[in-house]
Amino acid sequence: MLKKYLNSSMLSLWHQIIDDAQNIILIGHSSPDGDAMGATLAMFHYLKALKKSPVVIMPNTFPDFLCWIPGSQEVLNVQHNYDKAWRIFQKADAVICLDFSAYNRIDEMNQWLDESRRPRIIIDHHLNPELNADLLVSDPQACSTSEIVYCLLTQLGYDNLMTKECAMCIYCGMMTDTGGFIYNSSRPEIYYIISQLLEKGIDKDKIYRNVYNNYSVNRMRLMGYILNEKMVYLEEYKTSYFSITRDEMLRFHFKKGDAEGLVNLPLSIKGSILSVSLREDSEKELIRLSLRSVGEFPCNKMAAEYFNGGGHLNAAGGTLYCTMEEAIAIVNKAIKDYAPLLKDNKC
Ligand code: 5GP
Ligand code: MN
Repeated sequence: MLKKYLNSSMLSLWHQIIDDAQNIILIGHSSPDGDAMGATLAMFHYLKALKKSPVVIMPNTFPDFLCWIPGSQEVLNVQHNYDKAWRIFQKADAVICLDFSAYNRIDEMNQWLDESRRPRIIIDHHLNPELNADLLVSDPQACSTSEIVYCLLTQLGYDNLMTKECAMCIYCGMMTDTGGFIYNSSRPEIYYIISQLLEKGIDKDKIYRNVYNNYSVNRMRLMGYILNEKMVYLEEYKTSYFSITRDEMLRFHFKKGDAEGLVNLPLSIKGSILSVSLREDSEKELIRLSLRSVGEFPCNKMAAEYFNGGGHLNAAGGTLYCTMEEAIAIVNKAIKDYAPLLKDNKC
């Protein structure tokens, strides 16, 4: 039932790279989400079981609501620990990149990868991988990179030995990349994998609560404020958008991760097809956009055409280098240009 991602030549390449390597660096993307953390840490637990010395390095911090993931406390973060991360990266015998395959997803670590001559494996589910790799495992149909990791570990014979900790990581990635199994999650294999993870003793209800019922009071109030005062609903286009400025973040004591999931909320409006959020970055002069859709509306296409980004059909993101007012104007233009897909309600 599960995909075997490695054909025989890929399998021997995998062993060639991993069997000989002791210091293995696992990298996830900037602003790590549940899948980036879940996939890298699942691989971390696997490599530890093989008596290797894996280290997870992320370009920056992960949100607080992921601090329960087993192994997360050992994750190195380039922003806080540049010298240590760089020293360890230089000693790598092999590098595995998980949950990204585009140049612009790892900030300054891009240069590290560029200059590294170490064997490189990429495991990802995003469309159109850009980065070079000695071994590329790419499946845009997978709900998450964590799903691919589960299949890989099973193919590598780890399924019987898999620990509860590793299973928790995989479940976290699958759950968060599907919004709690509410989108991009209708393939039966997903539920087969979940059944196997439950056999490992994971408490899926607790994982859900850890991730989704973990709001600070401030975040809850921010959510109410956005829905009440910031959300614009364009009835004609069945589309909503809202913006969050730096001032508003200060007002609600915004912490990293507080914006996570907010963009999904307007999709609960009956008949709505598309939701877009715009957020001023807390450090750099740029606007981060998130797009979510239901049905066939291609968020990734809109993100690539208008917002220098990409992603998946129903979940994508991008960046604009302009003021919030200008960004909102671009969003309005994008929505109007996509009117044929939004108005005919075939989604
Ligand atoms: P989010 O809205 O959660 O930041 O991102 C949603 C999805 O879009 C994620 O799968 C993420 O990988 C992808 N994504 C977000 N920002 C970018 C971007 O700037 N470029 C590309 N190619 N994908 C992005
Ligand atoms: Mn992912």
